[in-house]
Amino acid sequence: MVQNFGNYKNYVGGEFVDEGKEKEIISPVDGSKIARVIMANEDVTRRAIDVAHDAFYSKWNRSSLSQRKALLERLANLVQEKSELYVQLESANTGKTIRQSTLMDVPLAIDHLRYFAHETEFKETREISHPEYPGTKGIIQYAPLGVIGAIVPWNVPIMMTVWKLAPAIVAGNTIVIKSSQFTPLTALELARDIDRAGFPAGTVNIIAGEGSTIGDTIAKSPKVNAVSFTGSTATGKKVLNAASSGIKKVTLELGGKSPNIVFEDAQLETAVKGALFGIYLNSGQLCESGSRLIIQKSVKKKFLDLMEEKIRKLNPGNPMQFETDISAITTSDQLDKIKEMVSRGISDGIGVTQPLNLEGRVPSGGFYYPPTILSGIEKSPTVSKEEIFGPVVTIREFETEEEAIEIANDTRYGLASAVWTNDDDRAMRVASRIEAGTVWINDYHLLSAAAPRGGFKDSGIGRELGLEGILEYTQSRHIFVSGKENELKEIAYGLLLP
Ligand code: NAD
Repeated sequence: MVQNFGNYKNYVGGEFVDEGKEKEIISPVDGSKIARVIMANEDVTRRAIDVAHDAFYSKWNRSSLSQRKALLERLANLVQEKSELYVQLESANTGKTIRQSTLMDVPLAIDHLRYFAHETEFKETREISHPEYPGTKGIIQYAPLGVIGAIVPWNVPIMMTVWKLAPAIVAGNTIVIKSSQFTPLTALELARDIDRAGFPAGTVNIIAGEGSTIGDTIAKSPKVNAVSFTGSTATGKKVLNAASSGIKKVTLELGGKSPNIVFEDAQLETAVKGALFGIYLNSGQLCESGSRLIIQKSVKKKFLDLMEEKIRKLNPGNPMQFETDISAITTSDQLDKIKEMVSRGISDGIGVTQPLNLEGRVPSGGFYYPPTILSGIEKSPTVSKEEIFGPVVTIREFETEEEAIEIANDTRYGLASAVWTNDDDRAMRVASRIEAGTVWINDYHLLSAAAPRGGFKDSGIGRELGLEGILEYTQSRHIFVSGKENELKEIAYGLLLP
């Protein structure tokens, strides 16, 4: 059984509040009850927005960049001290393997807090000259927006929470973060450390609850100046609609159906490993997962044989044990969705290969789906076009480079992609033509806090992380500094005055 982590409350105005309905959190690992969490209601959400608004206008909007960075650094240290607890919470709540939480999700969340604590590219002001008006200068200030409403999905809770928190704070905003109703534990643990780190009351508020009610409250609130949403494209459209009841900035990090192109000259053994890593890490529940494998015809059979051989060697088991390779599916609804989409594909006539049988090899009571390869997918609009968000990869073949690019871009999504080839020129040529916010050359999934992430087309608006990610949380103010007396004034005012 997975351990029980006790009770969690929402963090509003520097206090842990317990208004709202209690929800038992179930681990997808084996169905154990692992925590009780208060689901924030609309009143609590409105209060969180009010205190964030008051905190911004009473003092925080005059805070210094160095003060805000120091708080992030202190938070990173506190999370680091408790990293083992975060690892346990993240895996127990999401079902991702403890190896992944230990080596990726939690250390990257800490690194990314530190990255924003020490980032130097973002400057609050810059000076310009006005070529039209000699003798004057312009000061461009990057001012905070005010209150950020951040909405986080269930698949990578600690990283996504940090990705919204850290750049928004660096830019000088206050924030209300709504974590997913399914996986709120690490975000609510983070609230405890935010409190210990000494963030002024109301600057950071973290609540958990149903998206359709409190997520909507955040998106619609006139006191929320910007909404930063990560989740599915369908929900992203609802958030965009809700936010349009006022005038506010909206950034959307949405779903994907990311192409992973393998050319015949690629290092096949490495490309096979990369393709497996690309789709089966976190059991395919990563927005950028390489869910469409597009392989050059001449190597397709060899590639797929190798792939199946390696899938058979994966170690299913309890994700809470370090040697286990396969993550659980985070919610039973998601498991049902994956099963339903694959069944729809089967009725459309596609081929299904599942080289690894999980039966009797994963904890009973948990949610699991085996690594799956789908072929002949042209017959099924469902599996070929829609995001499945599970350990399911579709296969297409191509003969020419042009054809590979065409297949890769034949989707309404544009989040991520990869190109595997030994030819550097071809790699850059193809990468530059793929309609996606991220393209890996001979790799997959590696992400950096220094690089902007986001989508083309239906995969989103705006960018997260990097300098671009900080700028999303700012608005520019142009201060025009004119000389006290100058000839220019005579000319300009002469347009009106005799
Ligand atoms: P989801 O869209 O169901 O939910 C995302 C968040 O929105 C949750 O907190 C949810 O409670 C909230 N929500 C639901 N309805 C809402 C509404 N009407 N108004 C406001 N908020 C609402 O997504 P999910 O199932 O939690 O996550 C999986 C999806 O997220 C996948 O599509 C995946 O590709 C995407 N995702 C994208 C990125 C990215 O960076 N582009 C990263 C991770 C996940």
